[in-house]
Amino acid sequence: KEGAEKFTFQAEVNRLMDILIHSLYSNKEIFLRELISNAADALDKIRFLSLTDKGQLGETSDLEIRVKVDHDNKILTIQDTGVGMTRDDLVKNLGTIAKSGTSAFLEQMQKSNDINLIGQFGVGFYSVYLVADYVEVVSKHNDDKQWMWESGADGNFAVSEDTGESIGRGTVLKIHIKEDAQEYLEEAKLKELVAKYSEFINFPIYLYSSKEVEKEVPVEEQLAGDDEKETEEETDADKDDDEDSDDEAPKTKKVKETVWDWDLLNDNKALWLRSPSDVGDDEYANFYKALAKSDHEKAAAHVHFRAEGDVEFRALLYVPESAPPNFLADYYGHKPSLKLYVRRVFISDDFEELIPRYLSFLKGIVDSDTLPLSVSRETLQAHASLKVIKKKLVRKVLDSLKKMSDAEKDAAKGDSADEDDKAEAEKYGKFWKEFGRALKLGIIEDAPNRPRLAKLLRVRTSTDPEKLVTLDDYVSRMKEDQKQIFYLTGASVEDLQKSVFLEKLIQKGYEVIFFTEPIDEYVMTHVTEYDDKKFQDASKDDVKLGKDDKKGLKKLKEEFKDVLAWWKELLGAAVGQVKVSTRLATSPAIVLTSKYGWSANMERIMKSQAL
Ligand code: ADP
Ligand code: MG
Repeated sequence: KEGAEKFTFQAEVNRLMDILIHSLYSNKEIFLRELISNAADALDKIRFLSLTDKGQLGETSDLEIRVKVDHDNKILTIQDTGVGMTRDDLVKNLGTIAKSGTSAFLEQMQKSNDINLIGQFGVGFYSVYLVADYVEVVSKHNDDKQWMWESGADGNFAVSEDTGESIGRGTVLKIHIKEDAQEYLEEAKLKELVAKYSEFINFPIYLYSSKEVEKEVPVEEQLAGDDEKETEEETDADKDDDEDSDDEAPKTKKVKETVWDWDLLNDNKALWLRSPSDVGDDEYANFYKALAKSDHEKAAAHVHFRAEGDVEFRALLYVPESAPPNFLADYYGHKPSLKLYVRRVFISDDFEELIPRYLSFLKGIVDSDTLPLSVSRETLQAHASLKVIKKKLVRKVLDSLKKMSDAEKDAAKGDSADEDDKAEAEKYGKFWKEFGRALKLGIIEDAPNRPRLAKLLRVRTSTDPEKLVTLDDYVSRMKEDQKQIFYLTGASVEDLQKSVFLEKLIQKGYEVIFFTEPIDEYVMTHVTEYDDKKFQDASKDDVKLGKDDKKGLKKLKEEFKDVLAWWKELLGAAVGQVKVSTRLATSPAIVLTSKYGWSANMERIMKSQAL
């Protein structure tokens, strides 16, 4: 095109596009979900801007998405009246800026060949090349002229001023459908896909579609030709009227006719505003898929409630079945994914003030009645209500996890053969595997909720290291004379089972918790007791044994006085002190850490981190 400026895609993006355009992947349909979700995002943005500046909406005040097919030219058009993109946005967002998700997604795809997750990596737009060999994006942003971006996924794209018909505000995607993707030009297919993927989009989605209607035409008039078109279906009332006059000789004739009109495909209901008792399991499941931008992802649990009082809001939160990509690997870089609405208006999906970091794996929606609508993002972010909302969200989520955890316990007790019960019982175990470390981080970071989080812990112990048990399980099995909850930290269960620190405790029938993750050491510096019982590192020198064990200690001390003096001289400053004790059962001596020092395991961890 004349006057177009040419650009080359960022290298990784180019690779991704090349893979997509040549893909034989069968699940190409997800492109529609991604494009409609981008349209909805853009609509959310303009609606948000218009809250503080009414003028932003201008002439284009209907916020909507329109889908149309041009059968002759095999073009699918998706138009939104969203915020649009400036020339600069087009260049950056659709091509030259490297996105961190691109290579992560490519890597993921190599492993699973699953394109479905593309939206979660922030590169959803490019999925259009699953079905297109050429794409034109015409966009109009309030701050700029109307521009056109175009690319045939051949490594380049071009941007030029668009002097064609004005689109008002927003974005039009003209998708030239590939030979092997012609099904996406079929109305029925498009309807099916919108129903499947975009049911919960908060803006109306229209499809320009045809309809066969039966029409009564007066016999005389019919002779005059039937090129007169009508766009409305007859109502039942009309038919009744006709029947009344049927007694006379028929003056009309029924003919079939095709009419075209914009068909509303979604009823854009806000599921979270409904009462939980009115929402079915499948509705919850479908809503989750829409939130997660993935059609085979499931939630392990959901929390849906309405908070009343000074701060009113509704929330629908999901615990995903599996952790988001990079959730723990990039813990501090991971963005929360709760959507904040104020009275049904989308405000933001990256308010870190809404949910603590360790729970940022939750997906869902919070819709507040209390927060003010027409204020800046900064004002909202600092609003006092947000703290209250956050606190309540955390409580509710932890309660729900506790229920899941209890269900596991209950199911384990009864020997029900019921499949549902079994699934219930396995749920928490699965959750723990995915998110156990997140809860441990919670213990470190969220002091007020520490006791609640401790109840959700699962640990391995010396009794049966294969099994994960709760601290309640441990406490319920404590010996009568046992005052402390014993634990040992180390690199592996095998190492710990061989530990000399264990022998006396085991001999006495005490159970010892085995901690083998590096994070456990940090966790234990924050949890000092559970159920009024103090935690005790079994490798430290303040392990308390029963009175019986102290018997004869005085005599032994006397007996070994000279040996101790010799040891002390031999080891000098290398040790703090040399003591006679009853800590051991069979081994002659051990090196212990002082109560105030780092455990040997902590030394090991610190050393490995220093590398
Ligand atoms: P993501 O939506 O996760 O940011 P995408 O690859 O889907 O990633 O989209 C990239 C960017 O392109 C978006 O963040 C947005 O800035 C811009 N964009 C895409 N589609 C539209 C649209 N219909 N209207 C306005 N901006 C859009
Ligand atoms: Mg997107």
